Amino acid sequence: MLPTTVVGSYAHPSWFYAAKELMEAGRFGPVDVEETFDDAVDRAILDQEEAGLDVISDGEMRRASFVWAFASRMTGLRDGGAPRKMGPMSLDMRNVQETTGPVGVPNGMGAVEEFAYASTRTTKPIKIPLPGPFALTTFIRPVDYYTDRTHLAEAFVPALNHEIRQLAAAGCKWIQLDEPATPGYAANDPHTAADIARLFNACIDGVTGVHFSLHICFGSFRKLPYAKKTYARYFPDLLEARADQFVLEYGTREMAEIEQWMSWAPDRELGAGIIDIRTHYCETPDDVAERVRKCLDHVPADKLFLTTDCGLRYVHRTLARQKITNLVAGVQQVRETL
Ligand SMILES: [Zn+2]
Repeated sequence: MLPTTVVGSYAHPSWFYAAKELMEAGRFGPVDVEETFDDAVDRAILDQEEAGLDVISDGEMRRASFVWAFASRMTGLRDGGAPRKMGPMSLDMRNVQETTGPVGVPNGMGAVEEFAYASTRTTKPIKIPLPGPFALTTFIRPVDYYTDRTHLAEAFVPALNHEIRQLAAAGCKWIQLDEPATPGYAANDPHTAADIARLFNACIDGVTGVHFSLHICFGSFRKLPYAKKTYARYFPDLLEARADQFVLEYGTREMAEIEQWMSWAPDRELGAGIIDIRTHYCETPDDVAERVRKCLDHVPADKLFLTTDCGLRYVHRTLARQKITNLVAGVQQVRETL
């Protein structure tokens, strides 16, 4: 009852930051690199197990950051530099890739290898998150060959479908696609909920026996959201997506719109984000319990999962660990009253 989980990415320990600096400086050999990433995954798994989460991730520790990690795996791109280089850090300070022709991910996305390793390190159920096709366009500007962002997103469907089929064959039972509420700084790309649903279904086409979730993300790069924080415009069109569960952010919005759930998606599971990953405030177990009860006023208990709003990548490790510990403690308070 009331399973707890995370969206995907986990905080990096200080030693991992230091180790990656040494890697970039060429001080690590391949054996050192592999050992370091394995250790980072082990630590992410251990923190989640110790917190008592029911379904865990590998922390996405092998991915440089959400979608940029995949740029090096893609073909058909050239580096277009960063749109802005001065002032406060934001998404537009990351380098943008420009299309030069058909894009592809010829050697896979690496998630199959991530699952293979993580599944040897825990007996807990593992969720594997993948960026959805629109998310993969976040750092790409359609220049040559593609006319718009939706056209470009469609080009990533074969690679995602292939990866998801392989994950399912390897025994992965829960796969999540993360899609941005708006792709990066692309305010001029009006993709719709219907587009997201159509491509989600194409990505999971032909795969059975897997629990599929769809996270709609307000953006969390350096804790900075980039989307209007409402899900009202996604329903009912998003219901076309054959997702078992929608993973939505409520913590950052003080639970706004939770009262809409039964009019939006009464037959689906809700992965309710109730831990705000964009604040240094650490929700207490009592805060968590209060939010869970608020969910239960509007969501059937057997359809409710509790999670962080988004990945914990930009939360410092000590705080991240406390947040997931308190998430479990608060949910447990409510379980005991049911
Ligand atoms: Zn998110």
